[in-house]
Amino acid sequence: MSKIFEKLIPFLEKEMAFHTALNLFEWDSETLALEEAMESTAKVIEVLSEEYFHTLINPDVEKLLKKLEDEKENRLLTEIEQAIVRQLRRLYDQLQLIPPKEYKAYQALIAKSTNIWAKARENKSFQEFLPTLKEIIEYKKKFAKYRSKSNKNLYDILLEDYEPGFKTEQLDCFFEQLKEELVPFIKEIVKKADKIDKVYNTLEYEKEVQRGFCRWISGYVGFNFNRGVIAESQHPFTTNLHNHDVRMTNHFEEHNLEAAIFSAIHESGHAIYEMNITDELTQTLVGGGVSMGMHESQSRFFENIIGKSKAFWKPIYQKLIDNYPKQLRQVSLEQFIQGINKPVPGAIRIDADELTYPLHILIRYEIEKLIFEEKIKIEDLPDIWNKKYKQYLGVEPEDDAEGILQDVHWAGGDFGYFPSYAIGSAIAAQIYYHMKKIMPFEQYLEEGNITAIREYLRDHIHKYGMTKNTNELLKQMMNEEFNPKYYIKYLKEKYTNLVN
Ligand code: ZN
Repeated sequence: MSKIFEKLIPFLEKEMAFHTALNLFEWDSETLALEEAMESTAKVIEVLSEEYFHTLINPDVEKLLKKLEDEKENRLLTEIEQAIVRQLRRLYDQLQLIPPKEYKAYQALIAKSTNIWAKARENKSFQEFLPTLKEIIEYKKKFAKYRSKSNKNLYDILLEDYEPGFKTEQLDCFFEQLKEELVPFIKEIVKKADKIDKVYNTLEYEKEVQRGFCRWISGYVGFNFNRGVIAESQHPFTTNLHNHDVRMTNHFEEHNLEAAIFSAIHESGHAIYEMNITDELTQTLVGGGVSMGMHESQSRFFENIIGKSKAFWKPIYQKLIDNYPKQLRQVSLEQFIQGINKPVPGAIRIDADELTYPLHILIRYEIEKLIFEEKIKIEDLPDIWNKKYKQYLGVEPEDDAEGILQDVHWAGGDFGYFPSYAIGSAIAAQIYYHMKKIMPFEQYLEEGNITAIREYLRDHIHKYGMTKNTNELLKQMMNEEFNPKYYIKYLKEKYTNLVN
């Protein structure tokens, strides 16, 4: 082993410990912690974040990093060590240009802002959240400017945190294509799909039975209960401490059958990715999923491409009926498949169907760009938001809670995150067409053989963790980098079939 890399290890281990603790607090705040605890937890997070910062950003690490990047020294490293050095450089550059005081103040703000947002949302009042949001945006702009070299587009810098390698220019082109092709297509399909009857979905479904079925279906698609736990939170999410300790959540509503089922499959997709990362990477800097977009590609692959197909439900639909004989006895498999895929334009992103979903992301993308190109006043956001919803989806949010305040991301400072959802869907479609070519995909699903599909994804994506970037993984798997054309093709084929 390189002597210099050996000297870096204590820093890496400390980084890992603080990072893990911070993730665990985040998980705890969303699941079990009481509101009374929030303020004192915010204090703990503030101290830990500061320690995390100093563990990474200090002259010793900088010296070691520079030496390890030297070509001669770098050649002595294993592939994994090289990946760790690259990732450390990325983190280092993200943080070192930010004055520690400002970083700490920002972390303290973020620790409280989600709570302020949640209350504002409860009161349906953007005004209540406005001062905090403005503060967050100011910090994000300031930080992006610190990091911006040669007048780089600020939004490009935000994207780097979630989707390294993707630029605004490429995304502009992607979203423009989506807008052009999908807005008219959706109008046409929605009209035709109006006749699909899914009244069954809003009958009464006992939460306890839902919990049981969702747990079962997570296991069915491949969630490994020896490596992960499932809890409940307001919004389902997944986080990981490492590949042997993955945390996911779900949320249950009595009058919505499909919400929890598809959240369970979606979050299981995220969890499976993390669980399948090779043990060589456990608790290292590269032991997680490679990017938000790649992560979303896996969750959406499981949720939509597998989970909303007839082949997937064929062997297990009877089990669902057995859980809810009264509600579903009269609902045929065909009707259920049409129901779970029925496109209905609405105001809420997380309730959106697969077809209208990308338009929700398009709206957020356009707004985030307006914010960071400093073309709008933050005060005007609700109006801008509502106008875009009317224009693209033909719906008008009833209030701020249903409009501008619906997502937690901005309250957490996560600007530049939303595009990952659309990138993920597009990657999922690209992988789907590739897999259909090389294996009897539908047949596997009909046989209940999810393992064959999951193992392919493990061997070509999951196991690598962050040692290869998104485009390297795609290229290695199918000889082509990210290409959004499959996504539009997929949506058009699927929905044309659904309504005809
Ligand atoms: Zn997700």
